[in-house]
Amino acid sequence: MTRPKVAFFSFGSCEGCQLQVLSAEDALPDLLRAVEIVNFREAVDERRDDYEVAFVEGSLVRPADVEQVQGIRKRARILVALGACACLGGVNAIRNRRSVAELAREVYGGRRDGVFTTLPDASPLSSAVLVDYELRGCPIDRDEFLEAVRSLAAGTVPVTPAYAVCVECTLRGTACLLERGVPCLGGVARAGCGAVCPAYGAPCEACRGCHDVPNFEALGEAFARHGMARAVAAEKLQLFNNYREVRETWERALPSPSGT
Ligand code: SF4
Ligand code: SF4
Repeated sequence: MTRPKVAFFSFGSCEGCQLQVLSAEDALPDLLRAVEIVNFREAVDERRDDYEVAFVEGSLVRPADVEQVQGIRKRARILVALGACACLGGVNAIRNRRSVAELAREVYGGRRDGVFTTLPDASPLSSAVLVDYELRGCPIDRDEFLEAVRSLAAGTVPVTPAYAVCVECTLRGTACLLERGVPCLGGVARAGCGAVCPAYGAPCEACRGCHDVPNFEALGEAFARHGMARAVAAEKLQLFNNYREVRETWERALPSPSGT
């Protein structure tokens, strides 16, 4: 059987999602039997453009990124967005409420005025090209990535859960953090991670984005019922879900977070 040729690319990101792939050491031999890697800057010297599947990490932050991702899209039969930055704008989109000039002044104290060539917004890949599949999370989950590769190599479709992280907490018997006054976003967050953060006592930050039918009104009410301001829910959603089109879905239902 011919192995599909795959390539990895990176835009505005910490490259942590690609590192997740490389850290799957025990699974790499199987991975290499299933696919042929023809372009992966972090791992191999080879740079070929005859790939069928492109795994793309990072959000679009510079004008040149848009042209580049459109070129990747033209060559790839299947384009997979890797991680929160690529799927949602991710942590890069925290800056989207402020102008580039304002941020440059704050970070560099005016010493680098005019040198930035960034887009006004950090954006997910889907703002510029058609994305076939999304592997969510910050970073992506190694097992989910390997399962997606197996599915693509077998010609089937990887599945992303459409329900809430709360469902996974219930399935694994984790007591609800809201009951303890911990500001958890699990009610609106997309599942698939096994509710790993609440299982260790940390609130969910919705790094996998929101599920298909999130009820932000109910999330705000649940926060208020457990002694937390509704605006805290909005404040927390800014961390991974601040790209304009994502933000518009929750800011209609929740009070503005402080400082915006
Ligand atoms: S999603 Fe998270 S781990 Fe992946 S590149 Fe972005 S910041 Fe890094
Ligand atoms: S529990 Fe929430 S923040 Fe943690 S990995 Fe899952 S979706 Fe991301």
